[in-house]
Amino acid sequence: MTHEPVHEDLCPLCRRPLRPEYRRTQPSGQQDGPARVWFYRYRCNGCEAARPQQFADVMRAFYES
Ligand SMILES: [Zn+2]
Repeated sequence: MTHEPVHEDLCPLCRRPLRPEYRRTQPSGQQDGPARVWFYRYRCNGCEAARPQQFADVMRAFYES
């Protein structure tokens, strides 16, 4: 499995490293080419559990900056 290196960013709320989440193409069944994997978004388990709305707002600003 190949993951594109993503530079490590810290969570703006708790200063712990953000965990990149990847998406992959669904295998088509007929073609057996390699599934494409790409960076989707950052996750932070602690903040998503403790303050999901605040985390969503912070990440929106994070991506727009
Ligand atoms: Zn966090």
